[in-house]
Amino acid sequence: MRQFRRLISLFMAMLLAGALFARPPRKVLIVDGQNNHAWRETTPVLKKILEETGLFQVDVATSPPAGGDMSGFRPDFAAYRAVVLNYNGDPWPAGTKAAFEKYVRRGGGVVSYHAADNAFPEWTAYNEMTALGGWGGRTTEKSGKMARFRDGKLALDSGPANCGHHGARLPFVVTLRDPNHPIVTGLPREWMHAADELYDSLCGPAQDLNVIATAHSDPANRGTDQNEPMLMTVRYGKGRIFHTTLGHDVAAMRCVGFIVTLQRGTEWAATGKVTQKLPTDFPTASQVSLRQ
Ligand code: ZN
Repeated sequence: MRQFRRLISLFMAMLLAGALFARPPRKVLIVDGQNNHAWRETTPVLKKILEETGLFQVDVATSPPAGGDMSGFRPDFAAYRAVVLNYNGDPWPAGTKAAFEKYVRRGGGVVSYHAADNAFPEWTAYNEMTALGGWGGRTTEKSGKMARFRDGKLALDSGPANCGHHGARLPFVVTLRDPNHPIVTGLPREWMHAADELYDSLCGPAQDLNVIATAHSDPANRGTDQNEPMLMTVRYGKGRIFHTTLGHDVAAMRCVGFIVTLQRGTEWAATGKVTQKLPTDFPTASQVSLRQ
């Protein structure tokens, strides 16, 4: 009996130590509520992908619907380590924009997911954070240069042209351009992404932009024949931004390449480091790999 009690107290001590030393999950906020994409389907998938790392506790801030009264939409950005943008809709109130800019300038993390780079064409600071965007009336004259990868380096093309385009959803190869970046260290140099929109002709301020991965936009699929940025990092003040153009819909989000880069990119945006182990089911250059 005494031995049993001793075992119990040892067990309790271990639990207590675990509680004391385990790092609490970092708080992440997904912002949604308006999008020309199926945000009601994709937000739960984003949340699941992030929470299954054990690193994040995810809340969701949903705006009023398009045309609604936005004056009360004031997410508490400062309470989070990273904000994942799944929003493409009406302008936010001035106070909310100012709070978001302050949050990022002071070191907050941001993840711009797929059509988030279509949002807010008129908001200068937002476009500086995403570095590149498309649609919403963006042109190279108004919004900035197009960023492509040519001859082993970033090339900035001035138009004149409209910004933002994609062909049909097909699988395509993603090529790492900064393989030593913590988000992609150890991943294959090339991997086959599941059928998705391959964004091309994005343009913007492109300041403090680091292109981590590109994909070749195939002219046979109405593409540009250019290597277009797919995964990027951007600095804004002390803030870190991870920009992924991938993940049009729930089917594309099943790609292990999308999942892993979102998980690692969010950790990098939140902390500046990546502690996640390399997955064993990553796609190869020729083979798509999907999770349920
Ligand atoms: Zn899309």
